[in-house]
Amino acid sequence: MASDRTSHAAHAQGLLRFIDASPSPFHAVATSLEMLRAADFVETDFGATSHGSPGRHVIARDGALIAWVVPEGATSSTPFRIVGAHTDSPNLRLKPDPDANTFGYRRLGVEVYGGVLLNSWLDRDLGLSGRIAVRGARGVEQVLITVDEPILRVPQLAIHLDREISTTGLLLNKQQHLAPIFGLAGPNSSDIWHIVASAAGVSTDDIIGADLMLHDTQPSALIGIDHEFISAPRLDNQLSCHASLTALSGASNTETIAMVTLFDHEEVGSVSATGAATHSLPQLLSSISGDAAGHAQALSDSLFVSADNAHATHPNYPERHEPAHHIALNAGPVLKHNANQRYTTDAMTEGAFRLAAERAGVSTQAFVNRTDMGCGSTIGPTVSASLGMRALDVGCAQLAMHSCRELAGTNDPWDMTLLLAELLS
Ligand SMILES: [Zn+2]
Repeated sequence: MASDRTSHAAHAQGLLRFIDASPSPFHAVATSLEMLRAADFVETDFGATSHGSPGRHVIARDGALIAWVVPEGATSSTPFRIVGAHTDSPNLRLKPDPDANTFGYRRLGVEVYGGVLLNSWLDRDLGLSGRIAVRGARGVEQVLITVDEPILRVPQLAIHLDREISTTGLLLNKQQHLAPIFGLAGPNSSDIWHIVASAAGVSTDDIIGADLMLHDTQPSALIGIDHEFISAPRLDNQLSCHASLTALSGASNTETIAMVTLFDHEEVGSVSATGAATHSLPQLLSSISGDAAGHAQALSDSLFVSADNAHATHPNYPERHEPAHHIALNAGPVLKHNANQRYTTDAMTEGAFRLAAERAGVSTQAFVNRTDMGCGSTIGPTVSASLGMRALDVGCAQLAMHSCRELAGTNDPWDMTLLLAELLS
């Protein structure tokens, strides 16, 4: 893998396409499967008996995906090199019976999913995406839907009617103030299920379940005077999904099993069948190894890399950051530290990170929180605890984390890909 300006820009453009094709975790999995099929991965399932056979395997389920490469000659004690990321991002999601007619407007009831920067969803042209369950020949079947036209809007209250905004700031009540409007009520206005059914190519009677959410319809872009920034939704954490899949696609390991795990539900605590706390991953690893003694040895020699974006120092709020550990955009992958184990990095895995960065030829940065501020966390501690596996937490720097539209550096995703390729090898 080469490291030059063209590779950085080309990879960033690929990331923009990945993000725009993936408005929901279910779409992120579908887009990932497309990438992996093009790289000769073959779909299998949790019940298969061929998990440990040499070759390229992938299992996709709902909003989660696990892909791995078993080299020729692998044994039950062959160690794993795993990169984990998450497919979900904070957003607004439809309630089960969302449609309401309020003061002449067609309005949708929404729940807040994860730690949303609520203000960032106001006055934006929003689409609708996710999946529905339909009656199929074999029972319940999943259909992905994307309405990319800007059919939804959450209009902000005018400043003249919100006089306290300049003194107390914008206060949004999650129940009252976030419901998007999608039309004016009238005898011929269609309800939301007609719009969804038409996008899915089914009849409204066939819809028997739904996981639907809002997304920004403005395409992702490279911005800034030299196109040095990526402006896009869901950079946390589709950036890491895309980087890890790119790295895995190029894997040619001979002594280790390279794997990427993309989990859902990180933004709400990871406890679900497709979240990082799932028992499916330990079971699958054990199935790949085959026998118990070999598997225990494999786990003790393995490494888990938790890849999730990191906070760049905000130039307007430098006081919110640890003063001796400023993080810049386009200055390379960030290694995250936290003595209280909100991040998993320790001396030994920091060493592995530094050696991998030297081999990849990328510069790196070290993140630690201010001691007087709470620290975020991600899937690293959950997965390393359940597997008993050494781990480290890495990520690309970004601003505006959990905004409807986030900002990262154009060069960082490719440098992260080069680093992950080394950590996977
Ligand atoms: Zn994240």
